Amino acid sequence: MTVMSARNPRTGELDYEFVVSSRADIAAEAARLRAAQPAWEALGPEDRAQVLLRFADAVEAAAPQLAEALAIDTGRHAIAAIEVDGLARSLRRWAERGPALIAGLDREAKPSASPGFEIRADYTAFPLFGAIAPWNFPIVLSHIDAVPALMAGCAALVKPSEVTPRFVEPMLEVLAQVPELPLAYVMGGADVGQALIEEVDYICFTGSTATGKKVAEAAARQLIPANLELGGKDPMIVTANADPEWAARIALRSSIVATGQACQSIERIFVAREIAEPFLAALADAAKAVAITFPDPRKGHIGPFIFPSQGQKVQEQIDDALARGARVLSGGRVENLDGGVYLRPTVMADVSSDMAVMQEETFGPVLPVTVFDDLEQAVVQANNTDYGLSAAVLAGSTAEAAKIGMQLEAGAISLQDGALTSMVSDATNHSRKASGLGPSRMGDEGLLRFLRRRAIIIQTGEALPIDAYREGQNS
Ligand code: NAD
Repeated sequence: MTVMSARNPRTGELDYEFVVSSRADIAAEAARLRAAQPAWEALGPEDRAQVLLRFADAVEAAAPQLAEALAIDTGRHAIAAIEVDGLARSLRRWAERGPALIAGLDREAKPSASPGFEIRADYTAFPLFGAIAPWNFPIVLSHIDAVPALMAGCAALVKPSEVTPRFVEPMLEVLAQVPELPLAYVMGGADVGQALIEEVDYICFTGSTATGKKVAEAAARQLIPANLELGGKDPMIVTANADPEWAARIALRSSIVATGQACQSIERIFVAREIAEPFLAALADAAKAVAITFPDPRKGHIGPFIFPSQGQKVQEQIDDALARGARVLSGGRVENLDGGVYLRPTVMADVSSDMAVMQEETFGPVLPVTVFDDLEQAVVQANNTDYGLSAAVLAGSTAEAAKIGMQLEAGAISLQDGALTSMVSDATNHSRKASGLGPSRMGDEGLLRFLRRRAIIIQTGEALPIDAYREGQNS
């Protein structure tokens, strides 16, 4: 039996142990779920929705225990409660939307464009769905794809991050109240992720681009679809017509929520020279007013880094920028406080595109600001990244913002606000470049991707004789 430890991000202590799933455990869970899946799919969408609603009730009833476990792993209380609530809301939303969506699928027989045939479609779920999740939003990202997969009729096997495993213990008690739901967890790191891919028929991965490529390779070896939701380096363009104080408030929130450990965080800001001075002043003032949640974990805005080496990586980016001529207007130093690793919002000016902080994903509360004279150049710079997750534009009007937003290479564009992708669930989007691959997890596509279409082709005339293929008959 292999045991792994998890670190408490507030104390730095390894104060939680869990058993790593063995190959045999993973195979056995997969076999159990596969055996249960046909009956689950045969239940039909309405009855599956009822089960999801009962799961939502049970999640809500256990919200204090789930949120407490999550708060220890992530070092944040308010967001832990929001995550648990988010899972319940996602279950209710798919339970409501799923049956109508599945019932509305086109199953009508119709004449084919090829004369003499009639065609219709039939839909069946991929039997066993798998998910591999990161540590930044452990509950939400472990279930964001699993819930629509379950609604579609799949069974679901989920691997949470080994960095944030604590919610699984109370979640198993919740699941015990809904025994007909074919959902299970496997625990561990990269090896368990790889073993999971070998067991499932469809894999959804959320995490870094480097790991995403390894997941895609493993999925290719199994010939199964892989949906990848990966990293980002999201830009925000602020035009001369934007109100500088309003823009500064939005830029700050869009960049530092969850200590910047969100994939769709704003990580590069481009501001027009005309308003750069008041914008930077307002941004630095607002940044200095943000409190870290230390020493009282229930007071303040931003908590410690969940993953300790993250703090070191962010400090290296800041130091690299300083060495190349950037200026720090607020924050700037990672602090180790009683074993927790914190960074106050760090606004940086005089940055340039060769700096690591402008190229690599930061995943911290850092706001590098570039002043531009030419809007076209700003768009070129905003697109000058390997990533294409999302982007934002703040302008004098929605029309002005939209015109600029249409030129940005990203899967989702927020206009007159930032980082809106996490706030809406029905905006279908396809990440670009190194930020992801595959159908959208948002919108109806989030469920429809788990249904395979089977073509039913009906001969309505005479079946072709073999003589139709006789060589030489037309010569
Ligand atoms: P990570 O890639 O290190 O790990 C993610 C998961 O993959 C973990 O469960 C890990 O155990 C597993 N894993 C690691 N190596 C593996 C392998 N070889 N095969 C199979 N599984 C393996 O990511 P992380 O550090 O946990 O999360 C942060 C990253 O996630 C950031 O890059 C962030 O941008 C990204 N992210 C993206 C989205 C999105 O929707 N696009 C959302 C949240 C986070």
